[in-house]
Formats: sequence, structure tokens, C-alpha cells
Amino acid sequence: MNSEIREIFHDADPLSIIHYPLSINIVSFLPKPTIAGHSSRSVPRELPVKVNLDRTSSGFCIGVQGTIHVAEQKLRETGSLYSLGDIVHNEVEVRRLEALGLITIDENTFSRIYNTSVLVRAHGEPPSTYETARNNNLRITDTTCPVVSKLQRTARLLHELGYQVVIYGKSTHPEVIGINGQCDNKGVIIKHADLSDPEETAALALDRKSALISQTTMDVPGFYELKANLEKLFSSHTGEEPQPWLAIRDIDITADMTGVRQMPQLVFKDTICRQVSSRNSKLRDFALSNDCIVFVAGKKSSNGQVLYLICREANPNSHFIEDVEEIDAAWFTLADGRKADSVGVCGATSTPMWLLEKVARHIEERYGNDAPATPEA
Ligand code: SF4
Repeated sequence: MNSEIREIFHDADPLSIIHYPLSINIVSFLPKPTIAGHSSRSVPRELPVKVNLDRTSSGFCIGVQGTIHVAEQKLRETGSLYSLGDIVHNEVEVRRLEALGLITIDENTFSRIYNTSVLVRAHGEPPSTYETARNNNLRITDTTCPVVSKLQRTARLLHELGYQVVIYGKSTHPEVIGINGQCDNKGVIIKHADLSDPEETAALALDRKSALISQTTMDVPGFYELKANLEKLFSSHTGEEPQPWLAIRDIDITADMTGVRQMPQLVFKDTICRQVSSRNSKLRDFALSNDCIVFVAGKKSSNGQVLYLICREANPNSHFIEDVEEIDAAWFTLADGRKADSVGVCGATSTPMWLLEKVARHIEERYGNDAPATPEA
């Protein structure tokens, strides 16, 4: 990573939750609002007083910021760049970058292009991708997130040390495909922390030394639930009391690699990204402090799904959207018929801040206190 990108990472997100006032009152130029499910006559003034935009725990994480920054720089220089897979799990942002010249390709196309540059996104890629690039004389613009690179290295070393690498994650997620590639695709991927999927557990060899790691965007409680269930399962195989798997650090792996000290047979490393998990409690507080939550993320974003569920648990009046067209004014009237006093706008680590601002502005303009009342029909 170059120093410029590092600087951007360090500059990330210094602001706190702000009230999002319109600096210019443009509402009088807007079309009269029509609210889904209501006749225009019934459109009330009973609409949100204020819109709060969450700048603390929403918006791009450092990994995605780095990727987007590099892509924009390359596009400015060359006007065109291939991205292997969606650059970020957010359709709206992908479309914006495609308009600047980004071309999204799948693996099949990647294997059939030559002598050009291809961007590897923050999720990272398995070793086979780099091999294809070498064979096809492709220049890789590698924006793998440093957190993911570290995780890939951990997976590779554990595999080399003979551990059965158990990955808490989704088998189709690109990051997991990249991690598993480091283990010669022999990792055991488990998505169901309660071990309820027999296909997933059937892949486990209960007599092997094993190491549990995680996709960076999985939930922390799920990871520890899976660890506890693996402890029970592995001990039931030997007929012994469940023994806790031991937490390991990088230094333990190095010590084992160099023959200084062997690691135990059953170990785990919590590799969940704190850029994600540290947002959980802040987002929960944000959801609790607003009458209504509009959560903005791409439907394919697994981090978006996790964070949205946190919002919905804290505030059942939470709604998931990809863009402003999906907003329904009925959300801003509470179950008891009162208007919502506040609407909170927040999103995932893959949601650009400009999109969150657009949604906040849209709600403020259409449904804020200063919005024009709908005339009588
Ligand atoms: S969520 Fe964490 S690991 Fe994933 S891209 Fe963002 S900073 Fe990197």
C-alpha cells in the first residue's frame, strides 16, 4: 500500500453523528410528494422533524476506501480499468465507477484476457488468480485489504503446519474463496454456528488437529458459538469432557513454524475485522435513538445484512434500502399514528458516504418539517 492510501485510512471518519440540516432550502422547487399507500389528500404534515446521518459507524471501512481510492486514481490516469468481480458490494457505487470507465469482469473473462491491468478488490483473491495473471501477462493492481492479507497469511501458515483450517464464513463469499485458496481449497467452511447443517459438519475430520478462523465480516457472537459447539463435537468423538480450544497469536504460529514451540492440537484465532464489529454497539445506540431507521446497503453485502439485523433488533422500525426509490413514507408514521420525530440514516462498510448523504437529503427534502404540504386534490 502506498503512503497516500495509508494517509487516507488514517483520516477516515473523524465525525460523530450529526443532525443533517439542509443548508439551502430547495424544497419549494421539488415536486409535490406522493406517499405510497396514501392518497395525496391524506399526506400529512405528520412527518419526521429531523434526519440524523450516522457518520461514526456507517460508510466505507478503511479497506474499501483504499480500493475505491486506487480505482479512481487509475481511472483518472487511464480512463479504463478491469475489476475482477464487483469492486464493492454496492450496486449504486459500482454503477458510478462503471460510468467512469470501470469494467467488471468475472473469472471466466479474466482467464481469457491478456496484457492489461486488472484490479483485485479488498476481499482478496486465491493464489490461482495470481497464477492466471502471470500466465496471461496481466498487471494486477492489488488492493487486497491489509486485514484480509494478514488473514490469508494466517490460513496459509496453519495449513502448512498441518492444521485442518475451519473457516467460519460463507462458502460463496469472495473473501472466503481467497482464504480457502491459501489452504489448497482444503479448508472446512462453516456458516451455521449451531452446526445445524449436516453437510458442513460432515466435512470435519474430528481426529485432526484443527484451527478455527473467521471471514472478517462474520458476527462475533456467532464465532464464539461455533467455537463452543466445535469443542463439544470434537470431545464427543474422543469421549472426553469438552476442552476449550486455545487462542493463538501470530507469534505462536511463527514459533511453531520455526520449531521453537509447538502449538496445541485445537486452536482458534478470532480474525473478525474490528472495523466491522466495533460498529455494532454504536449502530445499536444509533438505532435506539431514532424513531425510524433507513439502512442503506447493497443486497449482496454480507456486512450490510449483519449490521441491518442489529438495527432491526434495536429498532423494529428499521428498513433496508439500496437507493432512494425504495423509501416508503408510511415508515415515518409510527404504529400509534404519531409522526416520527427522527429518522436515522446509516449503512454498511460497503456503503459510500455520498449515497448516505443523498438518502438523508432526499428524506429531509421530501418529508422533513420544511417540506411543502400536499395541496388538496
Ligand atoms: S471490513 Fe475490515 S477486513 Fe473487510 S475490507 Fe473492511 S477493513 Fe478490510
